[in-house]
Amino acid sequence: MKIGLIDVDGHNFPNLALMKISAYHKSIGDTVQWYDLFGGSFDLVYKAKVFTFTPDYSYFIDASKVINGGTGYDYSVKVPFENIQPDYSLYPKFTEAYGFLTRGCIRKCKWCLVPEKEGMTTPYMDIDEVAQDKKEVVLMDNNILSCKSGNYAIEQLKKIATKNIKIDFNQGLDARIITPEIAELLTKIKWIRYIRLSCDTLEMLKIIKNTLKTLNDVGIKNYRIFVYVLLYDLIDNYTILTELKNLGVCPFSQPFRDFTPKQIIPQWQLDMAQWTNKRSNFMSCDFKEYKPRKNFCCKEYFNLNGFEKAKERGQKYFKIMGLTDKLSSEVRTKPILLLTYGCMKRA
Ligand code: SF4
Repeated sequence: MKIGLIDVDGHNFPNLALMKISAYHKSIGDTVQWYDLFGGSFDLVYKAKVFTFTPDYSYFIDASKVINGGTGYDYSVKVPFENIQPDYSLYPKFTEAYGFLTRGCIRKCKWCLVPEKEGMTTPYMDIDEVAQDKKEVVLMDNNILSCKSGNYAIEQLKKIATKNIKIDFNQGLDARIITPEIAELLTKIKWIRYIRLSCDTLEMLKIIKNTLKTLNDVGIKNYRIFVYVLLYDLIDNYTILTELKNLGVCPFSQPFRDFTPKQIIPQWQLDMAQWTNKRSNFMSCDFKEYKPRKNFCCKEYFNLNGFEKAKERGQKYFKIMGLTDKLSSEVRTKPILLLTYGCMKRA
């Protein structure tokens, strides 16, 4: 059979589901290639879309059958060939291995689909199965430390520490679960770059500060810490980002996503994300001094009018979602990093 693949979100990050689908079809002798409008007829085309906000592939598809998968379409659709090694040749510019040691999460953040889709945190694969012969491994576990199956999470971390591989838990570790013992274990692991956490509320900021102290006590410096921040409230987010900046960690702002395709992100969130995520902006000025456009300075958001407008727009989104205008202490969202069929987060 001639199989076509479409990564609707683009090729900026490897799509694990497509890599597994490709590996499966190649293993049974099918021809697999990226779908090409001018590539003739295909027997079967798989379209994968992670993000709800990514526009769908709108061109004609010349195929006997088309299968859509991924959270951007329907998170209940499972990866058809879970237990197979990914075909990394699809994304030649990425040299790392990708996978999960656990699936699921114990938390219940209201806008996150992971608990509904995957349930509580459970063991999934061993680090050896994911890493294979790669020297760098990107692990997309949603909350590995929360895995309560025996000592699975700790055993996996200990095993990683003995190996000559660098890793990245790119969805972040749960700061609430990092004990002094776990912090000590983290010092033994070789990291691709950062140890990632998340801080989405003022309550979580207090926990992050304690966790940083725990990490500092075992010698892990703040500049090695990357922190995801969900943008939802101008004042709270300004406070969180300012404090994180003062602590010397590396924050990454993500505007709140409501999973609807036509969501309009408030301008203050776009500006705050641009200020945070472009290091030269972040390090050179305070958000209130940031001038993203001609004749506009972000301090205007903090004037009564600007603040009320920003707050009003923020509340509108939470009402649409049936949520309150403040997030619970469990809030995290990582939509950019949820890659597999049926898995939406980061993301
Ligand atoms: S946002 Fe993160 S911590 Fe919250 S439920 Fe989802 S995976 Fe778990």
